[in-house]
Amino acid sequence: MADPKVALVTGGSRGIGAAISTRLAQDGFAVIVNYAGNTAAAESVVNDIESTGGKALALQADIADSEAVRQMFERIEADFGHIDVLVNNAGIMKLAPLAQTDDSWIDKQIDTNLKGSINTMREAANRLRDSGRIINLSTSVVGLKLETYGIYAATKAAVETLTAILAKELRGRSITVNAVAPGPTATSLFLDGKSDELIERMSKMPPLERLATPDDIAHVVAFLASPEGGWVNGQTLRANGGIV
Ligand code: NDP
Repeated sequence: MADPKVALVTGGSRGIGAAISTRLAQDGFAVIVNYAGNTAAAESVVNDIESTGGKALALQADIADSEAVRQMFERIEADFGHIDVLVNNAGIMKLAPLAQTDDSWIDKQIDTNLKGSINTMREAANRLRDSGRIINLSTSVVGLKLETYGIYAATKAAVETLTAILAKELRGRSITVNAVAPGPTATSLFLDGKSDELIERMSKMPPLERLATPDDIAHVVAFLASPEGGWVNGQTLRANGGIV
């Protein structure tokens, strides 16, 4: 039997990334579950995948660190022989009006969300096998333009721009590059620090009147990673229940 296709999911240990990791494993990919610090969560995703017959490996690397990212890709190539799919999912969010943002949180969001995505996309551009896939996680706040989301949305808007440009730069290799832009999704990134009342209000914003589940987003990523998604290229696909 041919070696399975190999997918790297950054931030695959929790939230949307954990759902993507599990789904891609169900679809037959060997999955590298990248994480920043929460080893137990990453190992739990790997155990879940292995308990249903899938193949997975947890790898710690801070995506903001270009050398750590390079070493992670080298390790994957050494262990699995090739890489087919990069899901750029790891991200952080800190909300504040621009007038009240502090330097450390501006830097941290740019380093993780923007520079982190650049680091992984650059390695993927050099190493992905032909017919591969790059799928970046953006946010529908790029369209909604809500107060307090400025720095976070700006990092993701930049990722959307990079998505379309990298798709063109990879001409001739049958590699697609797309972004998925969720709306409010029930993970700790969205829920932590919000009142029940605010969560309830935001969950009613889409015409479908609920928060997304991580699986809602994983389904869209799985489509783009599949052969059926192969004609979608250079796009940002908003998966948000119609919020914008
Ligand atoms: P969570 O906070 O639930 O999970 C974040 C994941 O990213 C964790 O696995 C975490 O690892 C990992 N991570 C964070 N920083 C780094 C880093 N520097 N290097 C490697 N891994 C890192 O987030 P979500 O699942 O909600 O978000 C996933 C993506 O979806 C993000 O890009 C986010 O911006 C985007 N998104 C989310 C929305 C939402 O409403 N939830 C809406 C729109 C977009 P560890 O476990 O080690 O901490």
